[in-house]
Amino acid sequence: MIISEKKPMEEVLGFLKNAEKVVLVGCNQCAATCKSGGEEEVVKMKEDLEAEGKTVLGYTILDPACNLLKSKKDLKALKEELKEADAVLSLACGDGTQTIVKNLKKTPVYPGNNTMFIGETKRVGEFEEACKACGECELGWTGGICPVTMCAKGLINGACGGAKNGKCEVSPENECAWIKIYERLNDIDQLENLLEIRPMKDYSKQNNPRTLSLKKKEEAATNA
Ligand code: SF4
Ligand code: SF4
Repeated sequence: MIISEKKPMEEVLGFLKNAEKVVLVGCNQCAATCKSGGEEEVVKMKEDLEAEGKTVLGYTILDPACNLLKSKKDLKALKEELKEADAVLSLACGDGTQTIVKNLKKTPVYPGNNTMFIGETKRVGEFEEACKACGECELGWTGGICPVTMCAKGLINGACGGAKNGKCEVSPENECAWIKIYERLNDIDQLENLLEIRPMKDYSKQNNPRTLSLKKKEEAATNA
């Protein structure tokens, strides 16, 4: 899940300083779970903007915002409002916001949220980063604990030796990822995984922007 949180209202109002008529767009998936861009938050934003003297022409909650073709279709429900709007405020993540931008050629689109990380819901309202989308997943030999994300130094051949009482020397509020990896591998009887020195990660896999086309992959496999 993409974790996002609301931007400060002053920042949002700064974006909208020259906009009188606004359309709001939320997302019913990750942003709704994070309480940054579901219906409840969009309606609250509408009220807050109206209290600041803005006219909110309408709103929609895309499901999800990050599907380019589906968003294009769903935004048509607000065709007239979007024609009249001075600006669109997106309460989706950065990905969803850019999808909205691609679908609205002539209208400025502003982000109402900060996109934080890919992570998991620990419990309601609590999220934890879990994956940096490195393009070369290491979980198969680390017992399913991500060294790239959970270790503050992103070490592949940890541990660094700085942990104290099981806590990370960089972020003492966190457990040392490599101690967790050791314990997990011990639990699943795979400690031998740690005897192998792993090669440096291939950072070319993280060149951005990255793309993935299943069709091209299939064609390459067929032609191989
Ligand atoms: S190694 Fe970590 S960052 Fe890379 S894909 Fe796997 S979970 Fe994500
Ligand atoms: S203490 Fe552990 S988690 Fe922190 S940087 Fe060192 S190896 Fe990584």
